[in-house]
Amino acid sequence: MARQLIQKCKTCGAYSYELICPICGGNSQAAAPLKWTPEDPQAHRRRKMNEVESETWNDTLPSLSEEE
Ligand SMILES: [Zn+2]
Repeated sequence: MARQLIQKCKTCGAYSYELICPICGGNSQAAAPLKWTPEDPQAHRRRKMNEVESETWNDTLPSLSEEE
């Protein structure tokens, strides 16, 4: 299944919604990679996995050296 609607023909370069180009019959692939999103849909799971709410989590964070 196509991960993105807009496909670009690898042969003639035509854009379409089809995996087979309606113009030349060649194979089409996604016109562009999926966009990166700043939203993290798995953030709540990641926080739970790292036990962010626990008391000891602060100690695991990196800190600046004391030379400053
Ligand atoms: Zn084509």
